[in-house]
Amino acid sequence: METKCAECDAGISVPDDAIKGELVSCKDCGTDYEVVEIKGGTVMLKQADSVEEDWGE
Ligand SMILES: [Zn+2]
Repeated sequence: METKCAECDAGISVPDDAIKGELVSCKDCGTDYEVVEIKGGTVMLKQADSVEEDWGE
């Protein structure tokens, strides 16, 4: 699967057997992404760097 880097627009290849939560990084700018959704051969990523999870208590 192939998607694009939101930062530099370079192509990012994601393994066909990638799963939600898997981390991939842009080979051009080094931005880290987390796989959040895989649907019909399309992969959605979010930037792992900007993740600020607040799990609360
Ligand atoms: Zn990039």
